[in-house]
Amino acid sequence: MRNENMNDTTYNAWFRCFHGCEGRYALTDVIYACPKCGGLLEVAHDMEMLKRKPGSYWRGLFDKRYMTTKWPYGSSVWGKKELVCPVVHEDNVVSMYEGGSNLFWAERLGREIGVDDLWVKQCGNSHTGSFKDLGMTVLVSMVKQMLFEGKRIPAVACASTGDTSAALAAYCAAAGIQSVVFLPRDKISTAQLLQPLANGALVLSLETDFDGCMRLVQEICHEENIYLANSMNSLRVEGQKTISIELVQQFDWEVPDWIVIPGGNLGNVSALGKGFLEMEALGLIDRLPRIAVAQADRANPLYRSFEKNFDRFEPIQAQPTLASAIQIGNPVSREKAIQTLKIFGGVVEQASEEELADAAARADRTGLFACPHTGVAFAALFKLIDRGVIQKSDRVIVISTAHGLKFSEFKLGYHRDQLQEWGVSPHYRNEPVVLPPEIDAVKKAILDRIEANR
Ligand SMILES: *Cc1c(COP(=O)(O)O)cnc(C)c1O
Ligand SMILES: [Zn+2]
Repeated sequence: MRNENMNDTTYNAWFRCFHGCEGRYALTDVIYACPKCGGLLEVAHDMEMLKRKPGSYWRGLFDKRYMTTKWPYGSSVWGKKELVCPVVHEDNVVSMYEGGSNLFWAERLGREIGVDDLWVKQCGNSHTGSFKDLGMTVLVSMVKQMLFEGKRIPAVACASTGDTSAALAAYCAAAGIQSVVFLPRDKISTAQLLQPLANGALVLSLETDFDGCMRLVQEICHEENIYLANSMNSLRVEGQKTISIELVQQFDWEVPDWIVIPGGNLGNVSALGKGFLEMEALGLIDRLPRIAVAQADRANPLYRSFEKNFDRFEPIQAQPTLASAIQIGNPVSREKAIQTLKIFGGVVEQASEEELADAAARADRTGLFACPHTGVAFAALFKLIDRGVIQKSDRVIVISTAHGLKFSEFKLGYHRDQLQEWGVSPHYRNEPVVLPPEIDAVKKAILDRIEANR
């Protein structure tokens, strides 16, 4: 259902340098870095205008719109439009009803590991199966706005470890815009390769890793005026920051004690931090949670920097990991992430291949269906609880970043014990019992399992 008169031009937002150089740039400008220092940009909102309304007004407005069918405000991203991207005209919004993902009360897993109040924010329960939809709806809507205003943008492109390209391809397909995706050959799952193919993207499969794809796409976008959809484009952060708003909204605006989130390019943790800080500034909340970033130990530049108190940060050559979406050695949003962790009493923990695979499988045994990156987050959580950093009485939210069904090869390999080359000896295997179709054999198999569970 479309509705009239909702295009409120009261609120405004613009790009500014993350490092504080002077200058404002329109969100419709094709610009990804500060022209003065070359650093990342961020989206700034007219906070003075937003502050004219009390926190209770914003909470009430967001609650009123949440999960309704009022297009596009039933989307949990666009339901927070004033705080996310006020400058896009409603008719140019490209939305697939983002957000509104469920909070899974992980009661049984929590009991097993000794936290009473453990929740999993299921961001992978979304249109393309990962949280990337939240940012892509904002970016592609802005592209549509730019086209509407007469800008010449022949295509939108990204380098991807699989989920960004799936989201870009879907949103561009819905808007009738050509997408181009740069993928590292043989380093993404079958589902992740199929998604952009199905949505009509030009899929470039390159013999390199993510960081290699990234270098290429940047050069080509620059030369051909193709719009770059990677997370150095800070529009995506605005959509992704609604994870923070939505999850406190789901707790009746109560702030949890800890949030555990897997990190690769580190855009999502930056988004989480930005959302909380803006909510605090506007009086929607009155305290901040602590944040733990979880990395695979084969792609752990942030962990290494954390061990040195963030005094320095050295990009690394990321090694192959089952958590393929976070196989990134040179994360673009590292400065934003480190600033976030400093403000939020943040910690960084890492997980080995076996730890992440076992953690995902253990979570699955309690009803979840975790992707390998969510496995990294669970493995980090288990360690932080063991070390007493996260305590029994804390309310903890694990950000699940993708749907496990996108990673069926990973799960099949685990349960078939075919992940030895990754150094994984599975502790939670479950294999089909192959039997002749005979009653005695079937009965025995069932009774054996019941006996084993006793
Ligand atoms: C993109 C992605 C991540 C990492 O997010 P960053 O913003 O790059 O840190 C983690 N998990 C999944 C499933 C992803 O698609
Ligand atoms: Zn600058």
